Amino acid sequence: MRAVVLPGIQQTLVVEDNYPDPVLRGGEGEIIEITACGVCHSDLHVVDGEFPSPLPLVLGHEVAGVHPELGPVLLYAPWGCGACPQCADGDEMICANSSEAGLFTNGGYCDRMFVPDRKYLAPLGDLDPITAAPLACGGLTAYRAVDHGRKALAPMQRQGRVLLIGVGGLGQYAIRYLRLLTDAKVIALDVAEDKRSRALEFGADEAIGPDEDIAPCDLIIDFIGSDTTLATAAGTVARKGMIIVVGLGGGQTNFGLGKVPPEARFMTSFWGTRQQMDDLLDLARREPSIMPSVETLPLTDAQHAHNRLREGQVAGRIVLIP
Ligand code: NAD
Ligand code: ZN
Repeated sequence: MRAVVLPGIQQTLVVEDNYPDPVLRGGEGEIIEITACGVCHSDLHVVDGEFPSPLPLVLGHEVAGVHPELGPVLLYAPWGCGACPQCADGDEMICANSSEAGLFTNGGYCDRMFVPDRKYLAPLGDLDPITAAPLACGGLTAYRAVDHGRKALAPMQRQGRVLLIGVGGLGQYAIRYLRLLTDAKVIALDVAEDKRSRALEFGADEAIGPDEDIAPCDLIIDFIGSDTTLATAAGTVARKGMIIVVGLGGGQTNFGLGKVPPEARFMTSFWGTRQQMDDLLDLARREPSIMPSVETLPLTDAQHAHNRLREGQVAGRIVLIP
């Protein structure tokens, strides 16, 4: 089969036309034919050697495919060990021994892939698999972060103010969810003018650049996570407000009494559960507007897709088609 392989850290992706086909392991597992695979910014972090991923590796964790019996499916890629307390709670994505497809085991930049269990395949039904593919990570991660955030906003007796830092692939989903699921005022902060315009189209109340003043916000979701954006978040969070860090920018900030407003909370949010992916697919069926249109490129253009994402030249999500 054809596969796009990352040979080593900071190396160029290689298209291999005779990559070995995936096989069942001891007769166990499933094989899916891949229809579409989204390109997530986390793929660039793998290329940059920021994750302890075993290389060479076939990247790609936003996978829509076809299963011989289930038909069109969306892949849940963070596979837990099934034996730890996190897995028992359904939080497979934070299992210490998880094997995340496309990040730690071969993923979806290819024609076919192995999936260890049918439970990781969510039937898509009538949803368009190409538009739906990025729901598997971009959509799901933003959904979980907004879900955490809604719990923080819920006790408030007034309209909450929400700041989203970085409204690229993930942040754009968050705008839609906040619009549909809360009555919060949504402010989008992005360095790129085109992302700010897109944020307003998706329903943000305001879109601002990094140097603009912002009144205190009750909820801040930081989709970048750099020193700079964490400093913005810490300087903007309201008393009793919450900062949720999603971006893997590797930044740090001061936390402590007197360092942040009274009772401000910080947390990270990681991917999402299988239940949340099912809930998200139900939401997508009711509200197709949560799935922004995507740009497609042939799988063989994966390196070009990476270059464009790195340069900020992707409006929403690129989806690779084998
Ligand atoms: P993206 O490249 O599609 O979007 C990033 C956006 O941030 C762009 O619009 C860019 O213009 C903007 N931006 C860059 N620097 C900025 C700054 N300093 N201030 C404001 N805006 C800035 O990326 P994405 O796919 O949405 O991923 C975002 C981050 O989330 C990445 O670090 C990715 O690895 C991470 N991520 C985390 C999880 C998780 O489970 N926590 C899951 C998926 C992705
Ligand atoms: Zn991702």
